[in-house]
Amino acid sequence: MKGTRRQDALNDREIERCRRIWEVLNGGRICKIDLSEAKMHGSRTRFNETRNQVIVGADVVPGMSLDARSRMSEMACLAHELAHAERFKQGFDRPVEMPDKLRDEAEASLHASWYMPLNKNDRSCLVEDARDQLEAWLVENQE
Ligand SMILES: [Zn+2]
Repeated sequence: MKGTRRQDALNDREIERCRRIWEVLNGGRICKIDLSEAKMHGSRTRFNETRNQVIVGADVVPGMSLDARSRMSEMACLAHELAHAERFKQGFDRPVEMPDKLRDEAEASLHASWYMPLNKNDRSCLVEDARDQLEAWLVENQE
């Protein structure tokens, strides 16, 4: 998860909150969640293909910036990572290079925006993030 998000380690309550969000999203149907890095300052939330796990980091908590990626809630952030996992399970080969990586990021956010448990704000934030990623792709692709 890029963007300007929190760096401070999660406390026990916040970790438990992530565990509950994962249950609400029914993430377990796709892959496991690893909460062991969340207590490390500056750790990153990501989907790891080799381990087939969503690893929760300090940046699962939103930051202060105004862009969608920075203000996305824990629920929207975990939905985005779950979408990466689900797309991987469906056999989607993720581009790791720029600029196509941005289109994959956009698709993951759009995919996540369909998850039923999300509220209106989370859904909008994910769609907004998809738009931002596509706009960045268009800029990169012009060069
Ligand atoms: Zn992503």
